[in-house]
Amino acid sequence: MNNKKNNLGTFRYNLTIISSFIAILIASIFLFLRLFNILPQDYKTIIAICIFLTITGSLLFIMKYFTKYFYITQKIAFVFINFVLFAIAYITQNVIVLIWLSFLIMVVSVTSDKFFLFFLSILISLEMLFAEFIYPPLHAPLFIKLVIFISFIAFSILGFLISQQLEKFAYENEAQKALLEKMTLIDFLTETYNRRAFFKLANTLIGDALRNHQQLGIIMLDIDHFKKINDTYGHHIGDVVLRDFSLMIKNNIRENDLFARIGGEEFVILTKINNISHLYNMCDKILYITNNLIIKENDIILKITISIGCYIFDPLEENLESALNKADIALYEAKKTRNTFVIFPDLKKKFIS
Ligand code: GH3
Ligand code: MG
Ligand code: MG
Repeated sequence: MNNKKNNLGTFRYNLTIISSFIAILIASIFLFLRLFNILPQDYKTIIAICIFLTITGSLLFIMKYFTKYFYITQKIAFVFINFVLFAIAYITQNVIVLIWLSFLIMVVSVTSDKFFLFFLSILISLEMLFAEFIYPPLHAPLFIKLVIFISFIAFSILGFLISQQLEKFAYENEAQKALLEKMTLIDFLTETYNRRAFFKLANTLIGDALRNHQQLGIIMLDIDHFKKINDTYGHHIGDVVLRDFSLMIKNNIRENDLFARIGGEEFVILTKINNISHLYNMCDKILYITNNLIIKENDIILKITISIGCYIFDPLEENLESALNKADIALYEAKKTRNTFVIFPDLKKKFIS
């Protein structure tokens, strides 16, 4: 239902349905007035109103129950209503009927896009020029004709401005929503994905891996003796370490790898892998670059080490939760020596510089 994909789409949809109901109600009242002779009982007008009610009713039905055709049906409805109003103006030889076109263009301005609004305004203006002044001219004082024509132009311009503002508000609203959504997924300190984002985006990666019959590697990274860094140099330096470390990791993994901070000084990478040596090389590289990372802040220079716990899993056979547990067990194992990676269940390598 692409017409309802954002707030403006829903607003336009609801307003079109309401406007169609109102148009049907007004037409029914006119039909009633003519049938009961309160207005002159002119059979051509009665037939025109009946055709209007049938077609508008059908289009309303399509818009309500076949929402994927909403925009095209809505445009057909507007063009059709415009023709009916001209037909009624000719049948009754009553130029005042054309006033309804100004209402129509206001409805179009809030329920449709500005390109269609522009198209319909031009179409109606030309029709109006023909009907009022050229051929076959409706009989009415020039003053009335001019007022109707100028009002229509004024309403069209106003409608265009309204439409433009509506689209601008909707655009800003969408951008704000996207920003808010992003804020709930990003860890501010390291500007990486947070725990929540990890679980959300992991599902996409798992779906991809399932489709391509691929295995996934989980790499859990935990900075060694991080508490000591905080205690020795202060919390601020601890923050710098987290920032520099995650920046370095981000710069050394593939774009499709999912990297997130899932705890205080704990990170995780979820990656598609082909075989164990692929994962082995990745861990080796991470240990190597971490050992070579020099963190500088003011006159403090320090180095860190990390421990890594990994696991390879097939999403067809195992879920993320259980895979994470195994990577955690491997991490626990790695912590026994530190500056090490362990691939569950038993492949272990200590970094030797
Ligand atoms: P180990 O080698 O066994 O991993 O020990 P560790 O000290 O790294 O681990 P531990 O879990 O004992 O301590 C983690 C510390 O990380 C404790 C907590 O105060 C600190 N921490 C958590 N979040 C942040 C943060 O955002 N900034 C800073 N500076 N410190 C944090
Ligand atoms: Mg730690
Ligand atoms: Mg920890």
